[in-house]
Amino acid sequence: MILVSSCLAGLEVRYNGTHCLNSKISKLVEENKAMTICPELLGGFSTPREPAEIIGGNGEDVLDGKARVVDQTGKDVTQLYLKGAFAALEKAKELHAHIVVLKENSPSCGSSKIYNGKFIGEKIEGMGVTSALLMRNGIKVISEEQFAETFL
Ligand code: SF4
Repeated sequence: MILVSSCLAGLEVRYNGTHCLNSKISKLVEENKAMTICPELLGGFSTPREPAEIIGGNGEDVLDGKARVVDQTGKDVTQLYLKGAFAALEKAKELHAHIVVLKENSPSCGSSKIYNGKFIGEKIEGMGVTSALLMRNGIKVISEEQFAETFL
């Protein structure tokens, strides 16, 4: 089974109520070859919500307790991000997901780039919290960009 970010399949679950539809990915879901997952909703957030970024590091640092996830109002939302990441890991294990395609740049789903924590639209190298946890558990995570390069 393939797991994919819900927003890539066209579900309006992003912080601002939009999606990031990738038609090839939504086709996989329609054909029952993939299932959707949104770690932030699994963590307890609803849509819309405040945008959040990782401050002081990346998703791995959040897992190690060395960085935090903070929303634009300054509220610490680290625990909800961790809850969503562990729920996503459970789901991936339950479904025996062999590959997970997650939305690049997100503080949860980014797999090679995330925003730099200053809310100025600048990105740095690094994984989001869910991607870092899945990869630590031996689950292959790729972005929608890598998916397009590899599988299309
Ligand atoms: Fe999309 Fe992931 Fe953000 Fe959910 S947490 S809206 S799946 S990028």
